[in-house]
Amino acid sequence: MKNFSKLLDQADFTKAEIVELLNADGESCSKLFAMADEIKREHIGSKVYFRGLVEFSNICSKDCYYCGIRKSNTNVHRYNLSDNEILDAARFAYENNYGSLVLQSGEIANEHFANRVEQLLKQIKSLSNGELGITLSVGEQSYEVYKRWFNAGAHRYLLRIETSNQQLYKRLHPDGHSFENRLKCLKNLQDIGYQTGTGVMIGLPYQTVEDLADDLLFMQRFNIDMVGMGPYIEHEETPLYVHNDVLWPIEKRFSMALKMIAVLRIMMKDINIASATALQAIDPVGREKGVKAGANVIMPNITPGMYRNDYSLYQNKPCTDEEPAQCRGCLDARLALADSDIGYGEWGDSKHYFRRMNK
Ligand code: SAH
Ligand code: SF4
Repeated sequence: MKNFSKLLDQADFTKAEIVELLNADGESCSKLFAMADEIKREHIGSKVYFRGLVEFSNICSKDCYYCGIRKSNTNVHRYNLSDNEILDAARFAYENNYGSLVLQSGEIANEHFANRVEQLLKQIKSLSNGELGITLSVGEQSYEVYKRWFNAGAHRYLLRIETSNQQLYKRLHPDGHSFENRLKCLKNLQDIGYQTGTGVMIGLPYQTVEDLADDLLFMQRFNIDMVGMGPYIEHEETPLYVHNDVLWPIEKRFSMALKMIAVLRIMMKDINIASATALQAIDPVGREKGVKAGANVIMPNITPGMYRNDYSLYQNKPCTDEEPAQCRGCLDARLALADSDIGYGEWGDSKHYFRRMNK
């Protein structure tokens, strides 16, 4: 076995080496985070970019076994923000210099939804003089719909593969949810020209450290531009809750998520990595810890406060009782602690994307 510091100096890791890095603890773990932070500063700088997150609807046609807003959860109060509420949130992001916006919702694939998102994109571009960057995260859609949205102004798309282990994917989803289709969607997004983002949940029932190593290799092989990954957090109104007995303790899921960020930063030096909100659900300064471990994007929630409780993908989601304006002051202070500047008013695009596209 190589000495740990030597291992960190490499550019390419084998699966066994990634497993070793993910199992690091104590001093080795500190070395791993320090190396990831150094690589981030060297390749993409120390800025953290904000994406104001608008969870515009929790209506979903899918039934993922892990998700609190799945179609079959009848305890959820369903909401759908009005166009004006969405545009107000976009204006808030623009006026507060967030630089970019993420529009996220449950998955609906029909013409009405496609058309609505297309119109919203055009309106957001127009109210911000084309200055607000827009990321979409609204699930699996057809090539044509992705293309229409791209032409209307969306330039980034987040679609987590959830796990790269197909057997595990099957256990986490009912029939009709297809791993192959998700892959095809990711490929279509790349072909259309989106900055393409994916990610996984960390610490799922029956997931192994080897699976997580494969997830990182998958992201590298797929030549992904952006990643958002965070700990799996159980929700008692979901079918997966019965598997709680096999879950890693929450602290382990949290620390594993930080190590995943750090190892990926070393493997893919110039991509954008978001520090997932789920980190903050476990630790009040979890997102800042993610930044220290190599992440460079944070998605402050700017959904109007009254709807936040209803977008419960998992339990104990942070900041559900806050209004958008309160979040900003809070983040400014915390990021200063994480020794990072905030790229106010900047898109903070993935450098990797431009390299991939030879731009
Ligand atoms: N409907 C879209 C976007 C919203 S869901 C989609 O599924 O792509 C966004 C992400 O929330 C999912 O990709 C999933 O990784 C995450 N998520 C859902 N349930 C979760 C849970 N219990 N713990 C942690 N993350 C969860
Ligand atoms: Fe719907 Fe996304 Fe939740 Fe799956 S993860 S049930 S697609 S909101």
